[in-house]
Amino acid sequence: MLSEKISSIFKKISHAALRVGREPDDIKLIAVTKSQPVDKIKEAIDYGLRIFGENRVQEAKIKIAELKNFNIQWHMIGHLQTNKVKDAVNLFEVIHSVDSEKLAKFIDKEAEKRGKIQRVLIQVKLSEEDTKYGIKEEEVEKLIEVCLNLKNIKVEGLMTIPPYFENPEDVRPYFKKLRQIRDELNRKGYDFIKELSMGMSHDFEVAIEEGATMVRIGTALFGQRID
Ligand SMILES: *Cc1c(COP(=O)(O)O)cnc(C)c1O
Repeated sequence: MLSEKISSIFKKISHAALRVGREPDDIKLIAVTKSQPVDKIKEAIDYGLRIFGENRVQEAKIKIAELKNFNIQWHMIGHLQTNKVKDAVNLFEVIHSVDSEKLAKFIDKEAEKRGKIQRVLIQVKLSEEDTKYGIKEEEVEKLIEVCLNLKNIKVEGLMTIPPYFENPEDVRPYFKKLRQIRDELNRKGYDFIKELSMGMSHDFEVAIEEGATMVRIGTALFGQRID
């Protein structure tokens, strides 16, 4: 039952936060609905979920149109190609996957046309085994500087997709690392870098213990995807 899964996830989020002295309310649950049908999303809305994550612009566009009458937020969590930026800026509240100067500039340009300030996160690649996307740690500051010169893009934090490990404890060093990068940026005066989008179905509790402010959860809510 979806309602039970949702309440179980919220409980785990709270417990993980409280274990390390954090406020459960400081963690946003992003329900990842890629490859899930609109009816499932409606059910999730009925049970109180309000932030949804998709990784393909094309698929998201159709769903978002069908659900336009609901007061919900959509986040782009997948890799974004420059030819999809126009749609992405139209559709998404936050884009988690900015990983190049070129993409940032495209987003800024489209956002300007729409009179929008696009909220984004920078995707950081912390190891060679990570997904192919994301920038290296050493390049993060430079990309933030580039974004600071763009008027219609607002960088709010960092995102990472660590390699998969059977044991969630093995992922902990990656989450810790992303937080350290953020804290260091904060020390250097980039105090607007607040969000840490990290943690998925099988490791979100560890991510929260390490400071995640956004967890992206799909299968633990909706079951195995048929993709
Ligand atoms: C699919 C996906 C998720 C959700 O993964 P689950 O293991 O199903 O929770 C999170 N983040 C990104 C970027 C994804 O593509």
